[in-house]
Amino acid sequence: MTAAQFREHGRAVVDWVADYWERVESLPVLSTVTPGEVRAQLPRFPPEVGEPFSSLLDDMDRIIVPGLTHWQHPSFFAYYPTGASGPAALADLLSSGLGVQGMLWQSAPACTELEQHVLDWLAGLLGLPERFTFSGTGGGVIQDSASTAMLVTLLAALHRASRGRVARDGIDRGRYVVYTSTEANHGFEKVARITGLGASAVRFIDTRADLSMDPRALRTAMEHDVAEGRTPVLVMATVGTTSTGAVDPVQLIGPVCREYGAWLHVDAAHAGVAAICPELRWIHAGVAEFADSYATNPHKWLLTTLDFDACFVADRGALTGALAVLPEYLRNSASESGAVVDYRDWQVPVGRRFRALKLWAVIRWYGAAGLRDHIRHCVALAQQFAFWVGADDRFDVLAPHPLSLVCFRLRGGDEVNRALLAAVNATGRVFLSHTKVRGTFALRLAIGGTATRHEHVATAWALVSEWADIVATPR
Ligand code: PLP
Repeated sequence: MTAAQFREHGRAVVDWVADYWERVESLPVLSTVTPGEVRAQLPRFPPEVGEPFSSLLDDMDRIIVPGLTHWQHPSFFAYYPTGASGPAALADLLSSGLGVQGMLWQSAPACTELEQHVLDWLAGLLGLPERFTFSGTGGGVIQDSASTAMLVTLLAALHRASRGRVARDGIDRGRYVVYTSTEANHGFEKVARITGLGASAVRFIDTRADLSMDPRALRTAMEHDVAEGRTPVLVMATVGTTSTGAVDPVQLIGPVCREYGAWLHVDAAHAGVAAICPELRWIHAGVAEFADSYATNPHKWLLTTLDFDACFVADRGALTGALAVLPEYLRNSASESGAVVDYRDWQVPVGRRFRALKLWAVIRWYGAAGLRDHIRHCVALAQQFAFWVGADDRFDVLAPHPLSLVCFRLRGGDEVNRALLAAVNATGRVFLSHTKVRGTFALRLAIGGTATRHEHVATAWALVSEWADIVATPR
């Protein structure tokens, strides 16, 4: 593709995306395709001879769009939001166009330094302590996901706890244990398996009435493990659990970690970005004093396209100690000077693309004030929805909802709630998901979309309310 052809097709692609954003509201939120339907429309073999780019865009309309669940639909309320915005999408294009690879400072200096700088900005916006920045002992790194942030920080914690032995000799089976709450994201168990600790090394700590980790139960579990000769390596606290949005008491968990020498990682994948608003910064209580590492995903609720996890560590030496391997073919004078960051030592892959451009563009376009407006707008909409549910005596709100996630249920059994969720989603006008709260089925409405407005949330409530009567009426 020549530069002239790229210009022509590039304009068409930008128009296509802008048209998609304008019309996405008219599409059914949840895809209606059946399994295999998308593949059945694709040619069995790849083309032998190149095709015009316009035929790909035709197939986007004909095959791909009908085969999607539309995360950018303003009435997408399932799981958690996935950020998308003009500045993030355009910066992604810049990143692709540059095609640089920032494994070493030397391999793309601006890629590394912009990442350091933008993550220092983000640390400041979130009120994280200076030791999580490059002016302190730590710093931030972009990972693809919160799960990868869990993995690299657990490796760093193992490195610290074993004084380097794990990196050299591997895991002593049965020796090391890690802790999180019963409400934590399931990715933590996966990470324990990947590190070789195994699922049996994970202690799932009970929660308090508000579904946050019980620090007394944590202490009891640690005491027991230590008495049996095991080493507590890491505790993962969650700020905004996936299921209900519960916020673990980091300020109470931190002292327990200190007492037992365990690394404290804070997983704030979904909710952490809310801390850019001073009135919501309470969610980070204890992080500045006690956390060894912290991760949040601007690609969820901060208008930034996938994939973008911002992972901060207080001691960058523990991370690079766990992960750095230096082959001859990557040796260079900048690395040897010790004056630069080589991000390949902060992550699992060697190669990395220029993702910092996305958050740079988002922060510069919206400004900190614009980002705070987005968070506040979403929180206000969720509070409005929770108010409607709470004021209707057919329903119960099932968990605290200080941010943008509301879990609720129609009074009655699980079956009627499953039927309600299925009926509401089958309208194609909204998409909500579900969870279990203390063992009972709950509907879950998560707000965070770029285009979600009051009218969309009002329609969601109208549909829930209307279908509640229909599903609750015996046939
Ligand atoms: N942690 C929390 C609290 C989450 O809400 C999620 C999202 O499901 C995850 C971790 C996993 O995120 P990722 O897809 O970035 O690994």
